[in-house]
Amino acid sequence: MSNLIPILPAVAAFLHRDQQLLIGGKWVSARSGETFPTLNPATGKALTQVAKGDRIDVDLAVQSARAAFPTWAALMPAQRERLLYRFAELMEIHKEELAQIETLDNGKPFNVAFNVEVNVAIGQMRYYAGWPTKLTGETYAVSSPGFHVYTRREPLGVCGAITPWNYSLVMAVQKIGPALAAGNTLVLKPAEQTPLTAIRLAELALEAGIPEGVFNVVTGFGETAGAALTHHPDVDKVAFTGSTEVGKAIVQASTGNLKHVSLELGGKSPLIIMDDADISAASEAALWAIFSNSGQNCVAGSRLFVQSDIYDEVQSVLAEKARGLKVGPGLDRTSHLGPLISQQQLERVIGYVEAGVKGGYQLVSGGQRLEGDLSDGFFMQPTIFSNVTDEAMIATDEIFGPVLSILRFETEEEVLLRANNSRYGLAAGVWTNNLSRAHRMAAQLRAGVVWINTYDWFDPAVPFGGIGESGFGRELGHQVMDMYTELKSVWVKL
Ligand code: NAP
Ligand code: MG
Repeated sequence: MSNLIPILPAVAAFLHRDQQLLIGGKWVSARSGETFPTLNPATGKALTQVAKGDRIDVDLAVQSARAAFPTWAALMPAQRERLLYRFAELMEIHKEELAQIETLDNGKPFNVAFNVEVNVAIGQMRYYAGWPTKLTGETYAVSSPGFHVYTRREPLGVCGAITPWNYSLVMAVQKIGPALAAGNTLVLKPAEQTPLTAIRLAELALEAGIPEGVFNVVTGFGETAGAALTHHPDVDKVAFTGSTEVGKAIVQASTGNLKHVSLELGGKSPLIIMDDADISAASEAALWAIFSNSGQNCVAGSRLFVQSDIYDEVQSVLAEKARGLKVGPGLDRTSHLGPLISQQQLERVIGYVEAGVKGGYQLVSGGQRLEGDLSDGFFMQPTIFSNVTDEAMIATDEIFGPVLSILRFETEEEVLLRANNSRYGLAAGVWTNNLSRAHRMAAQLRAGVVWINTYDWFDPAVPFGGIGESGFGRELGHQVMDMYTELKSVWVKL
């Protein structure tokens, strides 16, 4: 049996279609008529051409979202719920197709796309589909006689969503779900490197019966289409996942009409292994904390702090495990890791590896681009540096690639100080078998999520987001509904 997964006829047909913009329920070309290629990072070749939306297209999409808003917001909650469940159901029916498209466009191994990305996206869509009938206000015990005072949760209006390429489907659903559930309409600008699943998702939304204009997709570039969305005076909120630098530009752009902004940005997350931990389980977790999705993961455990007594053991176990990982095309069933997203990203990552070597840090595995059969794709070996110091560029910068820095520490107090010494604050992990220490450290780590004796777990019910330069606002959980609604207080004199 060949290890290569055959492309589904539905996926081949999808790739043959013109990839257009969805505006007001109609598939249209960009006004300029321009297109751009999206590449398969495993081969470096174009998969298909995609419409290159710009300011004018964003404006049309915002107008159609505005026009659709009153009717969508006024639908009975149970009706919105039913449409969103149908949307989730269609995602489930087309699960294999979505996963193949993601593997082709992003590069990740098919089993990861299928079992992690698409499954998570469907679970989230179902979770949000249930929210329309569960939104509530409160009543208040005011100290004035003869009043009835209550709050209402109301939708914001038109939302813009701007998403990155690393988990394109999950990041899109994480915004579409709560926005639509709360009664908002939305314009999505997916990453230029991975526009395809957003387009397929929009086709499914139409098929589910979500009314035209409620969910619009404008593919294109960040500096043009993305920026137009963030500056648009008729957009009420922008939900962004991406880099800290672009996040800051979005905050500035939001000042024109003081639109709401929520930001899920970068990280340089510490994973700490104490010497009382289960070393074998901790090492396996540390391996995947950094190398899953080839390190292109916002919560990547890219700074691994290991206590002195167990340092050498953990380092050698990890180096051996890393050498055993198979890097290859996502459609090859035997690949553990796929390519990086682009030539540019590969060069960036190699640049950091060179800086690490120049800095004198010990390269204990990897460090090279893969050549031979794989030289047309953007493949990189899983790479580990040991005896890294805190100020090293590889220990401070978000590399967003398969590069781990291992750092040595002596005490709990010391490691907390060093782990917290970062401009980011997205995630952190602790491995310890000491219960008190686990909770003590969880309380002191400066991060939006702390994983104890595990790493990189998510659930739609659990809020997620960062602090510091990792952003603000929360996605997931009931808390995200606050990000997509306004609270109105109503005073009634009885
Ligand atoms: P990025 O360069 O910031 O791009 C993200 C999105 O923003 C893309 O759609 C991009 O369009 C768009 N964009 C770029 N410039 C813009 C501008 N001036 N105005 C409006 N939109 C603009 O990030 P990336 O390289 O795609 O993704 C990697 C980053 O995302 C990492 O820092 C990672 O940590 C972060 N991330 C965070 C989370 C989280 O939940 N915290 C999750 C995943 C990723 P183009 O595609 O055309 O550039
Ligand atoms: Mg691509």
